[in-house]
Amino acid sequence: MSEKVYTKQEQVPATTEIMEVAPNILRTQLPIDMPGLGHVNMYVLEDSRGVAVVDPGLPGKATWRAINNRLAEIGVPLKRVHSIIVTHSHPDHFGGAGRLRAETGADIITHESFRMFFDPTEPDDVDVETAATPHVPFGDTPWGGPGHSLPWRRKMYYKGSSRFPTLFRAPKPTIRLAEGGRISLAGREWMAIHTPGHTEDHLCLFDPEAGVMLCGDHVLPTITPHISGMTKNADPLKGFFDSLDKVGAFGSQVKVSLPAHGMPFANLALRCDQIKEHHMGRLEKLRVVASELDKPLTVTEYSGHLFSPRAQGTMADSETYAHLEHLRIAGEFDYTVREGIREYIRAN
Ligand SMILES: [Zn+2]
Ligand SMILES: [Zn+2]
Repeated sequence: MSEKVYTKQEQVPATTEIMEVAPNILRTQLPIDMPGLGHVNMYVLEDSRGVAVVDPGLPGKATWRAINNRLAEIGVPLKRVHSIIVTHSHPDHFGGAGRLRAETGADIITHESFRMFFDPTEPDDVDVETAATPHVPFGDTPWGGPGHSLPWRRKMYYKGSSRFPTLFRAPKPTIRLAEGGRISLAGREWMAIHTPGHTEDHLCLFDPEAGVMLCGDHVLPTITPHISGMTKNADPLKGFFDSLDKVGAFGSQVKVSLPAHGMPFANLALRCDQIKEHHMGRLEKLRVVASELDKPLTVTEYSGHLFSPRAQGTMADSETYAHLEHLRIAGEFDYTVREGIREYIRAN
């Protein structure tokens, strides 16, 4: 049997390998099974108080077992976990946080804007227990018409919470960091950098002393993070570009970047530029499609030109919508509404 070849680092299934990636920082991997993702990195930051962990995986028993195994391998008793950093509000990052806090009393550290959902169709401060019932209210998309299906992240979330109601706890942050806020972990001080784009509440942490950036899903080594159009922010793509510029500006001060998926990488500023280029390419593609077809098209129709057939769906539409809105706000595109559905065309 031939071994499966993964073209992207982020797809590679979790192994039990533990690697020191910076002084007092270990990379461990937790298993996840999501489209395009095979593992999530749980970094373990050691100091005299015990350890902090970053992004402790999905909800559920498999994660819990893996967390315990990794800590045992390192030789750290569970009760030594004093802090849990959650870079953003996706279930593959916060899933293990509630249980970990319940067992250890550890602080849960997030950006100050952390909240469970950013989808305007979801009520604020949704109750996890009731959200686990099958009758989830799901309204229209901002571009008109119903969503095709629940976004996969949310599906995972509901699946996890209904299957493991006792294991699954929504994390309640105990320390909410504001932009530029400081926190002491791994024997040194980290600076909070708010990086909206992938989610509105995304947090990166920068350690200027060792030149380490914990970059969550904001900057990934070989894939580009999903940008959702379903946020309260009118132009989330602009927000993402600004956040890429913000971390890219640290330049050579950053010696190693630690992403939530994939391997550590060296040139953060270059990677930020590459990710921007990718989205610039998509914007250009939309301009070309609009000019060539020269008629109003729905978000889903544009999406068919940006994403492969197997990637089609609400997530692809949502990202396409973010790009179309970026162009509309820049004055390049316009939309009309036909039977409740937005149709975009180039502005004259
Ligand atoms: Zn994410
Ligand atoms: Zn992720």
